[in-house]
Amino acid sequence: MSTINRQLRLKTRPEGLVQRANFDLVEQPLDELQDGEVLVRTLYISMDPTNRVWMRDIPQYMPPVAIGEVMRGFGLGRVVKSRSSRYSEGDLVQGLIGWQDYLVINDSAKGYVRLPADPGIPLPTLLGACGMSGVTAYYGMTDIAPVKAGETLVVSAAAGSVGSIAGQIGKIMGARVVGIAGGADKCRYLVDELGFDAAVDYKAENWKQALKEATPDGIHVNFENVGGEIMAAVMSRMVIGGRVALCGLISGYNSDGRASDNYSVIIIKRLIVSGFLVLDYTKTKEAVQALAGWIREGKLKAEETVADGLENAPEVINRLFDGSHRGKLLLKIASDM
Ligand code: NDP
Repeated sequence: MSTINRQLRLKTRPEGLVQRANFDLVEQPLDELQDGEVLVRTLYISMDPTNRVWMRDIPQYMPPVAIGEVMRGFGLGRVVKSRSSRYSEGDLVQGLIGWQDYLVINDSAKGYVRLPADPGIPLPTLLGACGMSGVTAYYGMTDIAPVKAGETLVVSAAAGSVGSIAGQIGKIMGARVVGIAGGADKCRYLVDELGFDAAVDYKAENWKQALKEATPDGIHVNFENVGGEIMAAVMSRMVIGGRVALCGLISGYNSDGRASDNYSVIIIKRLIVSGFLVLDYTKTKEAVQALAGWIREGKLKAEETVADGLENAPEVINRLFDGSHRGKLLLKIASDM
């Protein structure tokens, strides 16, 4: 009997928050494997802000997901059948798995990394602190805008996947680290559990004053994840010659958020603003080794929020925008063997 693959295919482009009705849940029998092919069982799908951007028909770094196409998404799966010389049954595969239960790839498929059956790191962490999120933070903090000991680093969306790691790397580098996050609980978490020096709750009144008080020497490095009003407030506190790792602008992903037209601060403060994409990074192996080492040494805390069920992906993705998760947001699709 053939295996049934469930897939979430984009039906309509969401306006605002993502709805179940924007997707068709399609059940499809899988064909027998051909020579050189492997069948991968999806275990976890990474819930990323970029998924929301891929649903939009706007210019971006990859083509938008087409109507009728399986939703593109990073994930982790295990090879359950192999007719390949490159992959063996039991291997883990990481890459663009898509929002589906199974994936068939062949030996020459690009964009997939084969990992040993037992990588020595918990699987959710492989997609979070030791995966794309952690590597993005590492790339930003080591190559794009490294912070020096004694300088002040501000990180926005600081209790999230990339931000929580970027801030902790800042502490490892000896900086004063200030996180910006929504709500008192997240701010307490940043200071009490992750060791940030201060945290600013952008949902509280007078948060701009709190940012000022938390950065008495100004801000040397901004690890920017949010954009909009938060970015403007941080930029206004930058020192002359400050550096900005422009990682993401999540406040605009659900809307036609217009780019700020206030670039004059970049001139006035002679700032160095570097946009970057983790896809360009060439030292991923080094980054994962460093991140895993810090976790083992107790210098870096990895946290994941794991939701369940492929069919829930269109709702779970919205948790990136309402702030109801901490650390890496993942969707568990199947239990591991
Ligand atoms: P997170 O786990 O940080 O989740 C997103 C967080 O953003 C939420 O928890 C929420 O936290 C905050 N947020 C959402 N909407 C708003 C808003 N309107 N105003 C303020 N805060 C908001 O996601 P990731 O770590 O995966 O991604 C963080 C950023 O990094 C994104 O901008 C993403 O696009 C970017 N990124 C960039 C990469 C690159 O290669 N350049 C690679 C990966 C990610 P809170 O509760 O504090 O509001």
